Amino acid sequence: MDIQLTNDEIGRYSRHLTLPQVGMAGQKKMKAARVLLIGAGGLGSPLGLYLGAAGIGHLGIMDHDTVDVSNLHRQVAHGTKDAGRPKVESIKDTITNINPLIEVTTYQERLTRDNALRIFQDYDVIVDGSDNFATRYLTNDAAFFAQKPLVYGSIFMFEGQITVFHPHGGGPCYRCLYSSPPPAALVPS
Ligand SMILES: [Zn+2]
Repeated sequence: MDIQLTNDEIGRYSRHLTLPQVGMAGQKKMKAARVLLIGAGGLGSPLGLYLGAAGIGHLGIMDHDTVDVSNLHRQVAHGTKDAGRPKVESIKDTITNINPLIEVTTYQERLTRDNALRIFQDYDVIVDGSDNFATRYLTNDAAFFAQKPLVYGSIFMFEGQITVFHPHGGGPCYRCLYSSPPPAALVPS
């Protein structure tokens, strides 16, 4: 890999560089990586903060919504003064403040059939932090057709699920596990 770390990056990521499991090769891979987060809410917030802080070189973040004070107890990328702002702007400010050495691209729009494949093809890994089944199935289907590994997480009250769907690496996809969305009446909000 011909990508190099700058002196600033070597200083910032020095603790990673001393870890045998990361090292210079791993940090360069992270700098080269392009990761797309679907959602800047309860899951997207910690994901964005940690991936950005760790030095993922290019983060894409997609969320159509605005910051609401009633969500701040878990959506920790946003602050009280951000209420009413687009979540993608707020989270970008927070991540950039932690780590100005990475690039953040924001998409203040809903994921749709029309934009999904076009946006997904620019990334290496898709991370699903969405909060509704329509987006979750669309994320799975678009990642499948774009042949991108999908990191999946979901939470409900005190339960959580996390896995990686990589059908083009020989594994199942989300629809292999749950073939269709539950009836709307059974979906807790
Ligand atoms: Zn499948």
